[in-house]
Amino acid sequence: MARVEEVIGDFVQLKKAGSNFKGLSPFSEERTPSFMVSPVKQIWKDFSTGKGGTVVSFLMEHEHFTYPEAIRYLAKKYNIEVEETVQSDAQKEAAGERESMYLVAEFANTYFQNTLHKTESGKAIGLSYFKERGFSDETIKKFQLGYSTDEWSGFTDEALKNGYQLKYLERTGLTVVKETKQFDRFKGRVIFPIHSMSGRVLGFGGRILANNEKAAKYLNSPESDIYHKSKVLYGIYYAKQTIAKEDNCYLVEGYTDVIQFHQTGIKNVVSSSGTALTPEQIRLINRLTKTITVLFDGDAAGIRAALRGIDLILEQGMNVKVCTFPQGEDPDSFAKQNTKEELQHYLNDNAKDFIAYKASLLMQEAKNDPIAKANLIRDMVTSISKISDQIKQEIYVRECSKIMDISEEVLFSTLAQILKKENADFRKTQQKEQKAFEVIKAAAPAKKVDVQFELEQKIIEILLLYGNHQEDFEDLIYKENDAGELVLEPVIQQARVFEKIYLDLQDDEMQFGNENFKSIYYLLIDFLNQNDEFSIENFIQNIDPPLASAVTSIVMNEERYSLHNWEKNNIYPKPKGQNVAQLVSETILSLRCFLIDQKVNEFKQTTQNTTEDHSGVLEDVLNYSNLKMLLSRKLNRVL
Ligand code: ATP
Ligand code: MN
Repeated sequence: MARVEEVIGDFVQLKKAGSNFKGLSPFSEERTPSFMVSPVKQIWKDFSTGKGGTVVSFLMEHEHFTYPEAIRYLAKKYNIEVEETVQSDAQKEAAGERESMYLVAEFANTYFQNTLHKTESGKAIGLSYFKERGFSDETIKKFQLGYSTDEWSGFTDEALKNGYQLKYLERTGLTVVKETKQFDRFKGRVIFPIHSMSGRVLGFGGRILANNEKAAKYLNSPESDIYHKSKVLYGIYYAKQTIAKEDNCYLVEGYTDVIQFHQTGIKNVVSSSGTALTPEQIRLINRLTKTITVLFDGDAAGIRAALRGIDLILEQGMNVKVCTFPQGEDPDSFAKQNTKEELQHYLNDNAKDFIAYKASLLMQEAKNDPIAKANLIRDMVTSISKISDQIKQEIYVRECSKIMDISEEVLFSTLAQILKKENADFRKTQQKEQKAFEVIKAAAPAKKVDVQFELEQKIIEILLLYGNHQEDFEDLIYKENDAGELVLEPVIQQARVFEKIYLDLQDDEMQFGNENFKSIYYLLIDFLNQNDEFSIENFIQNIDPPLASAVTSIVMNEERYSLHNWEKNNIYPKPKGQNVAQLVSETILSLRCFLIDQKVNEFKQTTQNTTEDHSGVLEDVLNYSNLKMLLSRKLNRVL
């Protein structure tokens, strides 16, 4: 099946490093490699961001595929059939129909490109138009731009000749059927194909070339089973990686803005194709970043209307900035006239926080009109109420109070009124997010060397690497010798590693201190108990993503040192070349010793701070001290 190093190798330049591969993180900008792939364990780990997992999770992270998309991608790469989940006949038929529509769209996309590059009219009319707009050959190829000849049914005839059915040509909107006649929707237009997040062609935009007053300048594919306007963002396929990396998404008006930005070198840009942004489109972006920067043309006419739509973005918990261009310029023309550096500087210097921008803009209009001003307050506070972060809300109230010259109290009480209504649902989502964050935070190793943390982690590591190995464990138990004294004697017992660990820890009623380790520990013991075959890959696939990420951290932890030649912290010997049974015994004993020390110290504290009767406590301390002595002796033996 899919080899993790092969699949990732298509996206990241990997170099052999010992038994692993390493490379530059595709999730951050870095100069020294901290991205590791283990062919043996079939997992990957990115130390710069903490992400990690299986080959499937890599595709989901990197390509932003959904799970089925990732599986399909692998199937395609390895030429295997995917068993789709059981579908009803009706579902199968619907899926079949959609598939046929995708194929038609794919065919059309190739056809339009060929027409642009290989026919006389394509070159003379279409290609020269794109060139005039300033698009380079490379750009034209990359965005798969095309041309549809100025004949009534050039495309339709060709598609039918190639065996595509008229009903799919009609359903995708490529062909318009009127009674007995059929003609090409995009006749005589240059073509902009519209791709899904994973790169499939869903529909097209076509721009007219003649100065024709009657026909629309742009014509788009109609809504269909494969093209849902409200769920698609033009350019997202080309932008997704950079959006995630830059942690910001520029939003522009249309096709040519997106393309011109790309050509200039700014790739984190999408457009909602002529319409106002929908919640579904915002959700697409939300998977990649929490920051949207909306870019407006220089003329102020449409800005006010556009501002309303922005509340939707705030509602989804995103940060919104806005940036306007100089009078008479739009993103397309501005990008065309400037270098990447100039454009980037302009955007950095002129992007303003949305709320502050809106407040000052509306203030200019309402300055001398008290009624307008009253409406404006409500309008502003409504925007602020969409922000789910209370601290941010407060900051905005302060800021708006200054900009609009209205007391904070008035703004706060208006805010309270608005919030009262919606508060209930709000809290819930907030709490959910908070929880998810805590899990991740706990997964990150503590900065200071925390002995218990290290040892618990080591135990998990051992279970992951050797959990189902059968080993000879040497234990020391008290026996009576010939002279009638109790002495420690070694006994050999065979056991599987996870059984040994589980039983030993249970003996002490040992509990893991770290909640993440605790969850992973019990999942692992369960998994090992139920499956004879164990692979890390398999295990990871069956647990929650945050835990899976924690697991990859643990397994790859050691390789991490080989990345940077960092000083190894050598408190506890690493498994290399050591026998597994020894490693297991030693780690468990170290942890037990550590916990006992802790207990003893606790007791000492209690006895110091109270004047009660300590006899019971003292006895406990004594018992623990004895146990510790015994353990130390065992430990010395194994070492
Ligand atoms: P012109 O050469 O006259 O400036 P244009 O092709 O640049 O024409 P504009 O009218 O400037 O088009 O439109 C601004 C942006 O919006 C462009 O990126 C354009 O591609 C896009 N656009 C215009 N209409 C639509 C539409 N119906 N659907 C999608 N994008 C559109
Ligand atoms: Mn234009």
